[in-house]
Amino acid sequence: MSVANPFAQEFPVGRFSGRCASCGQVLGQGEVYYAVIGREGREWVRKDFDAKCWVEAPRDALGVWRARVPAAKAAARRRYAPARVLMGVFERLADAEGQAAAKLRFVLALLLLRRRVLRDAGRTWRDGQEVWQMRRASDDGVFDVVCPPLSAQDVDEVSRQLADLLAGLEEQAEPLG
Ligand SMILES: [Zn+2]
Repeated sequence: MSVANPFAQEFPVGRFSGRCASCGQVLGQGEVYYAVIGREGREWVRKDFDAKCWVEAPRDALGVWRARVPAAKAAARRRYAPARVLMGVFERLADAEGQAAAKLRFVLALLLLRRRVLRDAGRTWRDGQEVWQMRRASDDGVFDVVCPPLSAQDVDEVSRQLADLLAGLEEQAEPLG
């Protein structure tokens, strides 16, 4: 498997869903909304809420942030998911069980490496699994990332899954919780 550079370009941010998951109202340009990545069964699901319907994030949410719906023009520009929110998701995934979580976390770690939020600090083996050690550039915090069995196709698929979960995530988005 080649994972040296799985992202041909910067991480793609997918399309924003545009509707409140609770009342179905369209979220208008400039409107504040809340986004949650939560677990439903074995899957992670991204939901957006308007301010009226927002209550609080479920305890097991992987990511929660508040942002404003970008203007149509801004939506067409390339955007970058903020490192703070990505790091939050990455850290919470460490506690999530299962192979899907391990794959998502590994691919996210590659993205954070590419963004230089994390730095490669070597490899080790533990319980028959390859573990990549990564160091957070800002404070030298160390993270172990299990390298799950991943084909190049898996990496593409997981990257798309991440893009869907993080759709519309703007640089100015504010992580919550
Ligand atoms: Zn609503």
